[in-house]
Amino acid sequence: MKRVFNFSAGPSMLPLPVLEKAASELVSYGDTGMSVMEMSHRTAAYEAIIGDAQKLLREIMKIPDNYKILFLQGGASTQFAAVPLNLMNGSGKADYIVSGQFSGKAYDEAKKYGDVVIAATSKPDNFTYVPKTDRSSFRPDADYVHICYNNTIFGSKFPYIPDTGDIPLVADMSSCILSEPVDVSKFGMIYAGAQKNVAPAGVTIVIIREDLMGKARPETPTMLDYKIMADNDSMYNTPPCYSIYMAKLVFEWIIELGGLDVMKQMNEKKANLLYDYLDSQSYYTAPVQKESRSVMNVTFVTGDDALDKKFASEAKKVGLDTLAGHRSVGGMRASIYNAMPYEGVEALVAFMKDFAEKYP
Ligand code: PMP
Repeated sequence: MKRVFNFSAGPSMLPLPVLEKAASELVSYGDTGMSVMEMSHRTAAYEAIIGDAQKLLREIMKIPDNYKILFLQGGASTQFAAVPLNLMNGSGKADYIVSGQFSGKAYDEAKKYGDVVIAATSKPDNFTYVPKTDRSSFRPDADYVHICYNNTIFGSKFPYIPDTGDIPLVADMSSCILSEPVDVSKFGMIYAGAQKNVAPAGVTIVIIREDLMGKARPETPTMLDYKIMADNDSMYNTPPCYSIYMAKLVFEWIIELGGLDVMKQMNEKKANLLYDYLDSQSYYTAPVQKESRSVMNVTFVTGDDALDKKFASEAKKVGLDTLAGHRSVGGMRASIYNAMPYEGVEALVAFMKDFAEKYP
């Protein structure tokens, strides 16, 4: 069975060497005589896996010592509630930048818990860019400011880190974590569902500054309380064991390739190939303004819905899979995460040229 180039926004491609390594130890891990899937999380073997996963992530992202790394469940969507429950604990105010669908969902969820406002949004312009902000955009007594750093559906990314002064900045990095180096110290908290750049679905990474924990609102469910999770090394209950193991393998793969500087180079090379082609012709249009373009999720349209659908179905026939845009916006979306090889983007651009000639 030939593997396809899978452009899915998530779950998405995993590096082939990682899948092969997982396959090689699927039935028996090390000398344990059992699969990681079958292993108690309270064994030395599993504690080493989760401990290594944490250590490697800290190394790759250069996470400072005063930040905790948590491996949680419930997807990034559960963090939409966990963030206000844990952090909206002073003035009861939080400011949200709404630059796409997921930041809109995060905002809607947070509104259940306090005085939440939209500090800036590009909604009136169909989220075709990331709004600019400065310190005056935020209420000085807000408990935190929330952003979605990369907008998976619209294909845009923050070209800057908002300056929030002393207000903790919380970022949903689900679709861009590990795609490039980030200065973690600029954020109070970073979270990400794993199923794009990290692992199969099932684990959510939270990176949080220690001083922000331990002040959760009294109604916070135990499972959503960061301090409880941190005090129990993410094992208050059974963690998503296999996804964490897969994350560890992906972290090893990233380190072997040279870390996040190399990831950034590789990702920019792929994205440039695609954007340069998009900018060189008029058959396809890329709706996102250049400055806000995502390196991970590249969106484009022909301007004709029927043709867009044909594009995705014909591409699938030649091994270019899952190129339809999100069901809410249509068009096309090529998600080109870390595991997508350069050859996949080359094949896509060649197909785009052929398609434009075939259906002028
Ligand atoms: N935030 C972003 C940026 C996403 O891309 C997604 C999922 N595609 C989510 C949140 C929701 O993640 P989950 O399905 O893990 O809840």
